[in-house]
Amino acid sequence: MEDEKFDAIVVGAGPAGSAAAYTMAKAGMSVVVFERGDYPGAKNVMGGVLFREAVEGVFGKFWEEGAPLERPVVDQRLWMLGQESVVTAGFRTQAFAAPPYNAFTVLRAQLDPWFAKQAEDAGAYLITETQVTDLVFDDTGRVIGVRTGREGDLFADVVIMAEGINAFATVKAGLRRDFTMENAALAVKEIHALPPETINDRFNLRDGEGATILLLGEFSHDMMGSGFIYTNRDTLSVGVGAIVSHLVETKVRPNDVLDEMKKHPAVQPLLAGSEIKEYSAHLIPEVKYSELPRPYGDGYMLVGDTAGYVNFLFQEGCNLAIASGGMAGRAAVEAWERKDYSAASLSTYQQKLDDSFVLQDLYELRNGPAFFRNHREFFGIYPRMLNQAAEDLLTVSGLSKKTVGMSILRDLHRQRPFWRVGKDMFDAVRAFI
Ligand SMILES: Cc1cc2nc3c(=O)[nH]c(=O)nc-3n(C[C@H](O)[C@H](O)[C@H](O)COP(=O)(O)OP(=O)(O)OC[C@H]3O[C@@H](n4cnc5c(N)ncnc54)[C@H](O)[C@@H]3O)c2cc1C
Repeated sequence: MEDEKFDAIVVGAGPAGSAAAYTMAKAGMSVVVFERGDYPGAKNVMGGVLFREAVEGVFGKFWEEGAPLERPVVDQRLWMLGQESVVTAGFRTQAFAAPPYNAFTVLRAQLDPWFAKQAEDAGAYLITETQVTDLVFDDTGRVIGVRTGREGDLFADVVIMAEGINAFATVKAGLRRDFTMENAALAVKEIHALPPETINDRFNLRDGEGATILLLGEFSHDMMGSGFIYTNRDTLSVGVGAIVSHLVETKVRPNDVLDEMKKHPAVQPLLAGSEIKEYSAHLIPEVKYSELPRPYGDGYMLVGDTAGYVNFLFQEGCNLAIASGGMAGRAAVEAWERKDYSAASLSTYQQKLDDSFVLQDLYELRNGPAFFRNHREFFGIYPRMLNQAAEDLLTVSGLSKKTVGMSILRDLHRQRPFWRVGKDMFDAVRAFI
């Protein structure tokens, strides 16, 4: 058994697990990483936009080191869809087209192996096709190792759980409760192949530039949900997601939501002639701040989606996973230097999270999930009203502008009385400020 003992075991070679493994191995700890997939990223899904700052904080200048990146994002658009119209907003800057960049579009099947390779090059030992089924505890309740189907039991001073959202072993061991249907969104995603020049033309991009479109509106069937279209080199990532409890309640299938979005007259020309290369579905944590699990205990830490660290409003998850993995890795290195892996010693992880954007942002947005779940009009009625108002305003008729303005106000009031709009705005201010 002693032969099988490592300084640290990491369960899961997603971005969070690889960040933790890389940080610990680089500091000289002996680290083993278990990944149930054939290779890291084999089953992982993301939109995906990778935000540079947090990744650089752990892996250094990854864009200069051969990380498989698709396009730096220079153009971020918000589309609010009506039945056959769209109201748009956006931001584009060439500042994001040059180093150090702000964000990149990525494909996880290529990116995850690169992160895992950094951990391996730093000295971590990666074991694929092996699922951790249970955690091993000592008599005092401290986590001392893991049980796997293929490799039997392996022991370590600290175990970092980076299983992603489902986290079967974490939940089974009682380190976290299952996330409820209210605390998770189900997303479906397709990858559409198109020649790079066609993508450039359709999205008004130069070679090596990328765009993202976040879509809200009619297609979401008044659920708390949204869609996305991201430009990769020679593919588009196209998907939708909605809160699971809303999907159950409305009985709408996510694939139908995606089809509806794809058929919208503003979306269809972007995808025309493309070939669907891949289809995937995955859950995303959207956990109330007050229901986030304690991310550490005697001999263990929880990182990334396992701990529920996703910023639903800004659609950030991978950067929180990598930042939290890096922080857990550093907390483990400090515990290794102290030779103390008790909960008290590992609580430095919580302090690091508290002092960082990870928990500070989630705290600021703590009322957001409940607000949007109870104010679904932001996903349905409001985009509809905006589209109607824009169409009326921009339709040139024999009527005076004042008459048109009054008619728009009457229409808007009919769709949602102004006192309710006022209350929605008041609730929004209270939820976010
Ligand atoms: C459709 C979609 C779009 C998204 N878009 C974005 C985006 O644009 N930007 C962004 O920042 N985030 C995005 N996210 C969120 C982001 O993907 C996650 O937050 C991030 O992947 C979390 O990383 P992780 O390492 O914690 O978990 P995961 O990426 O889920 O990795 C967990 C790993 O653990 C392995 N594993 C699980 N259990 C075991 C076990 N018991 N034994 C061994 N191995 C195990 C899995 O196979 C997997 O490799 C998106 C998510 C989805 C679903």
